[in-house]
Amino acid sequence: MSFDSVLIVDWSAANTRAPKRPSKDAIWLGLTTRGQTQEPIYCRSRIEAEAQIKSIITKEQAAGRRLLAGFDFPFGYPKGVARQITGSDDPFALWDWLAARITDDASGQNNRFDVAEQMNAAFPGPGPFWGKTHRDRWPGIPYRKEGITFDVAPEKRACDLKAQAASSCYQLCYSPTVGSQILMGLPMLSRLRKLPGVAVWPFEAHADAPTVLAEIWPGLIEPAVKTAPEEEIRDAAQVRLLSRALSRLSPEALGAMMHDLPDIAREEAWILGAGHGDMLSALAQDAPKPPPLRDDCFSLPAGVDWTPVDAALDALRAALRPVVSAETCALQDALGRVLAAPVIARRASPPSANSAVDGYGFAHASLPEGDPVLPLIEGRAAAGVPYAGRVPPGAAIRILTGAALPEGVDTVVLEEDVRAANGMLAFRAGIKPRANARRAGEDMSAGAEALPEGRILTPADLALAASVGVGRIEAYRRLRVAVVSTGDELCEAGEDAAHGQIYDANRPMLLALIAQMSLEPVDMGRIPDDRAALRKAMDSAAAQADVILTSGGASAGDEDHVSALLTEAGAMNEWRIALKPGRPLALGLWNGAPVFGLPGNPVAALVCTLIFARPALGLLAGAGWHRPQGFDLPAAFEKRKKPGRREYLRARIRDGRAEVFASEGSGRVSGLSWAEGLVELPDGAVHVQPGDPVRYIPYASFGF
Ligand code: AMP
Ligand code: MG
Repeated sequence: MSFDSVLIVDWSAANTRAPKRPSKDAIWLGLTTRGQTQEPIYCRSRIEAEAQIKSIITKEQAAGRRLLAGFDFPFGYPKGVARQITGSDDPFALWDWLAARITDDASGQNNRFDVAEQMNAAFPGPGPFWGKTHRDRWPGIPYRKEGITFDVAPEKRACDLKAQAASSCYQLCYSPTVGSQILMGLPMLSRLRKLPGVAVWPFEAHADAPTVLAEIWPGLIEPAVKTAPEEEIRDAAQVRLLSRALSRLSPEALGAMMHDLPDIAREEAWILGAGHGDMLSALAQDAPKPPPLRDDCFSLPAGVDWTPVDAALDALRAALRPVVSAETCALQDALGRVLAAPVIARRASPPSANSAVDGYGFAHASLPEGDPVLPLIEGRAAAGVPYAGRVPPGAAIRILTGAALPEGVDTVVLEEDVRAANGMLAFRAGIKPRANARRAGEDMSAGAEALPEGRILTPADLALAASVGVGRIEAYRRLRVAVVSTGDELCEAGEDAAHGQIYDANRPMLLALIAQMSLEPVDMGRIPDDRAALRKAMDSAAAQADVILTSGGASAGDEDHVSALLTEAGAMNEWRIALKPGRPLALGLWNGAPVFGLPGNPVAALVCTLIFARPALGLLAGAGWHRPQGFDLPAAFEKRKKPGRREYLRARIRDGRAEVFASEGSGRVSGLSWAEGLVELPDGAVHVQPGDPVRYIPYASFGF
């Protein structure tokens, strides 16, 4: 049994219209389409919700997608109830009986207590329906449950017992008002099931139905709902997570849930997944952490003495993949986050045709020959305050920028181009049809992919997501990157330095770079050249972070403890890359966390980070592999370079030419700061003359 889409409806029996601002106890719809869970849809009334559900059913069917639509109220009553009321055991007879009697309107006003009173009248003794909002109204409905003997039909259905649901389908008032939800829900189902292609589980054959309606119960996935973000409205989390869980079920598991039912389900209905709460809860939760990287992922092909930069990058790219799981995140917290699923437009943008200017709107086809003079009708259309009526042919209406085009208007003439007086409007002939009008959906249509998976969200992306109604996104958890500085000579900036000490410059630089990449820096401090101390720091870094960047101690000398430790752990890979400035990189896994052992020299540390660690971090973070974008500029310098190594020079642009820092010394931090980018010289020999084109990569291309 397989479905392309799963819709979950959290129904409500409220007799008021829900507030404009999304809130609990309203109606929420959760939709997952082809594995992508959308942000839940909020509906302020049952009428609005029914229209939404209908349009989802129509849309999914039109797109050829099979839809499972779940509703969180019982589809049937305990055995015996339907017969008592309608004279038939057919649950649909009761659906239609209710549909013919229940009234409802956009404000939530309804007659459910009157109808429940009629139903009670069919039963001997008090009840079975009980609970009401007014003690002295509806005398046929007991105020409390006491004294009701459920002898015509049991109090609970077989599936309620199986799912250990506490609620009662007869309780009309006081939370949970399941009884009222059924009365207000079954009439809608009675209408939905009559749409083409719709079948109801488990009452009807549904194997080939394009749309299947089923009863669900979010209580089954309560453990998963508890893990939802604190700020997410509970009902929204319930529909989101249940639609995700059901869509992740294997066809076999779903098939078993739908088929292995007792006979009584044909009359009483059944909760889809009853007895399988654990499985659904597990599927509802955020994706489990991806498996660890392989121990040998950093081995370089043997036999190469100095590996060219491109070959090293290819090896790195092949070795790594995302190590972070996905979670949902509010749009206002999403800057710099990596999308774990595409953002799908919930609504077209703009949602309706509207005016691009302040001016006057009319139907172009109704313009007379020659310079038009049109009567102006009363009223106006403004942004957010649409004109409700229809503009008759040959007339015009005042319209402001952003206002929805009223019915009868397709063209807008600019206010500066008209004369308006005495209720008439005059302008020159020649305006084009649909001038100054924006088409509905011209920026983005509903259901279109607004942003792809792997996208690192920019401020403009947040605007796009918001414009199509998306307020929460699926993002990868931020990659945590630990930074360790090693060396006996290091002390902290701001402290007094003893003779022979230098200030730790790499750590503030690397931590800042990580923060600027929107990753999560984890500061592990400075570690002396001491094997035991470094081991402890690495253990702690691997426990707190996904990746470890160390600087210093990565070569093969006596005090190079990073490489010594990795060697001891059998995880050391010395990457000798044909790169200047650079020293061998120590790459390995420490307790499963990838370690980038960077050189100690700040210039080499930064260049190696930008060229190697940065794309690797992007891959680990779920953002894919990105090479920095550069461009060619005339050189403002002369340089002769031997073959064999790729070279990066600290550079900046002045007067349209690339100038480079006077000294190439790899300890010269001032040059890093002076520069605004790097000039990349190719692996082969070159003799750059002033004016020759050279490849310049601005720091901004590296994300800072
Ligand atoms: P190493 O890679 O440990 O041999 O260090 C190479 C050079 O970089 C030495 O001159 C170190 O003093 C210097 N160095 C190492 N770590 C840092 C650091 N965190 N900040 C500034 N300089 C460093
Ligand atoms: Mg050192």
